[in-house]
Amino acid sequence: MSLEKRDHAVLWHPFTQYGTEDDLIAVERAEGVWLFTRDGKKFMDVNGSWWVNIHGHCHPYITQLLNNQLQKLHHVIFAGVTHEPAVKLGELLTERAPEGLKRVFYSDNGSTAVEVALKMAIQYFFNRGEKRKRFLAFEGAYHGDTFGAMSVGQRGGFNVPFETLFFEVDFLPLPNEENLHEVMKSLRKLLAAHQYAGFVYEPLIQGAAGMRMYNVGHLDLVLSAMREHGALLIADEVFTGFGRTGAWFASQHCVASPDLMCLSKGLTAGVLPLGVTMSTESIFNTFVDNDKARAFLHGHSFTANPLACTAAIASIQLLDRQECWQSIRMISAAHQSFIEEAYIKEVKKEAVISQAAAMGTVLRLELQTNERSGYYNSTRSMTYAWFMKKGLLIRPLGNILYVNPPYCISREELETVYMAIREYLIIHSQSHRTSL
Ligand SMILES: *Cc1c(COP(=O)(O)O)cnc(C)c1O
Repeated sequence: MSLEKRDHAVLWHPFTQYGTEDDLIAVERAEGVWLFTRDGKKFMDVNGSWWVNIHGHCHPYITQLLNNQLQKLHHVIFAGVTHEPAVKLGELLTERAPEGLKRVFYSDNGSTAVEVALKMAIQYFFNRGEKRKRFLAFEGAYHGDTFGAMSVGQRGGFNVPFETLFFEVDFLPLPNEENLHEVMKSLRKLLAAHQYAGFVYEPLIQGAAGMRMYNVGHLDLVLSAMREHGALLIADEVFTGFGRTGAWFASQHCVASPDLMCLSKGLTAGVLPLGVTMSTESIFNTFVDNDKARAFLHGHSFTANPLACTAAIASIQLLDRQECWQSIRMISAAHQSFIEEAYIKEVKKEAVISQAAAMGTVLRLELQTNERSGYYNSTRSMTYAWFMKKGLLIRPLGNILYVNPPYCISREELETVYMAIREYLIIHSQSHRTSL
């Protein structure tokens, strides 16, 4: 029986509608930006394997460090015990993180990194005897799939069946040149009405909302109002961390440094699951006491898994190399010149796409359709299938086509992607026109 058939008999895949979904591809091995299937095909991983893969697949340096670690220690309880990989990773992170983030708390994925930040924020005020537990977030936010993370996420999207169980959160529209005045007015109104514990945000790019990019100056205005209000700034850098936006962390483009920061995805270069919540020393200190109940009584079985920490150490050491930042700059510049091409400007004028934007290593094209723009837009399946036929794994978010490659992609490989996109835009413009 084929692997696909055996899969269909027993597995239940994430974010998958079995009633309509495309065929599975069975990947056997991978190297760099390439995925190789059992039946001898290859696909370029333009999606970075759900945004986690930053150095390419099976990087020999990560493999080597993991091999060494496998001989020494696989896993151990992390309460009352410590080990070299956990401490070393903590040191590497605190040296590179935005100013003031001096404590590292481990969990095992992006959702739990957010969950931990929310709980830390609530208990921070609880321990200080202050009544603050309300959160503010941006419309369109995605912070993960556990209940706390879902609660601070966009309503009416992925989570409709669960919404009545969420805690109350206020949402602010994402600021832009047109609405900035209105957004700041709404913010002032909300701040007068409530005492917020924290503001949760994906700095500069809202990933799952469709790679929505927004202005750092606008974000700074919101952050400075929240800080003045006394709320904690909780930066969810699960997607934007580790070079995606052209800096180590997107928060480093901002004036205000966050009080709490959530990391996962690129943290281990996509090799093993690991989550991190970083906090300031002053938050940490409110948990230090003789009273056990004031401690942060939260932990996961696989906290600080030594293998996962080792993969993260290797990934950070690769990011420390000059050539990695040269690649990041090469990709950013290539994306930028792509969106400035006469051809892209032309298709934009002809309403084939409504937006072309780039930030760091992320390129975003919003296809114009006669349906609502967003995750449920039906052009997705045609777009996905077309690029798969070309050997490119591009997983659009509805009508949002994006490129988010591992940093090891070459200029030539990037050009293959752009060529395919140019070709697809012609096809899309024809099908879009006939459907009008
Ligand atoms: C992916 C993502 C999460 C959730 O991470 P998981 O590891 O999938 O649980 C949280 N926040 C942001 C910004 C993300 O992109």
